[in-house]
Amino acid sequence: MPNGADSALGQLTPRRGADAAPDASAGTARVLLIEDEPGIVDFVRRGLEGEGFRVEAALEGVEGEQLALNGSFDAIVLDLMLPGRSGLEILTSVRRRTPNVPVIVLTARAEIEDRVAGLDAGAVDYLVKPFALAELVARVRSPLRVVAQASASTLSVEDIEVVLLSRRVRRGGHSVQLSTTEFELLVFLIRHHGEVVTREQILASVWGYEHDPATNVVDVYVGYLRRKLGRPGDPAPIFTVRAVGYRLGSAG
Ligand code: CA
Repeated sequence: MPNGADSALGQLTPRRGADAAPDASAGTARVLLIEDEPGIVDFVRRGLEGEGFRVEAALEGVEGEQLALNGSFDAIVLDLMLPGRSGLEILTSVRRRTPNVPVIVLTARAEIEDRVAGLDAGAVDYLVKPFALAELVARVRSPLRVVAQASASTLSVEDIEVVLLSRRVRRGGHSVQLSTTEFELLVFLIRHHGEVVTREQILASVWGYEHDPATNVVDVYVGYLRRKLGRPGDPAPIFTVRAVGYRLGSAG
């Protein structure tokens, strides 16, 4: 954890790459390479390992997706045309589950227009084949530096990400607009993610005053948060614990 990190970050799911100091990221970073052409796998592996990265490779999509979602990688290099599961499908599930992991997409020139153009350019970088090794190394290294620097002021749980200084909130890579009170409530829930917190704890921390025990302001604001963070078929991971309070996240 970089110096100056909020101590509450210790309770959070480790961010990918957060352990890597900006100038030492290459020494510790693990890169997942999902690519079905053995020649490119060898080329990329040798290049990245030569720069001090640890590389794990998957040669088809299903295994690649499993590794991407369950392994703890600092970056993913992803081919689009893959057997088993397409790179775009993998990208979609990675962005939903682990939106902080930088993904560098490898693509043939002909694929750019129809496949890559619609992607969020801020979330995904891409390289056109054939690419120079130095360019790939630079693309992998650059977001790791940004992540390492941002981690002290960024909280994330599951696919929710909160940048404390700018008060920006994203879920699954999509920006969410919150009021000041909603933002404070979300930060409180994230800092206690996986724990059940009572309405009294929430009131004391977010509203900070002695309250009428009959007030339903917490429930009302949890409702607002759920509405803003939820998406069709994918409700916000804020659970009601009957007669006690609320819990953010499924862990615990
Ligand atoms: Ca391919």
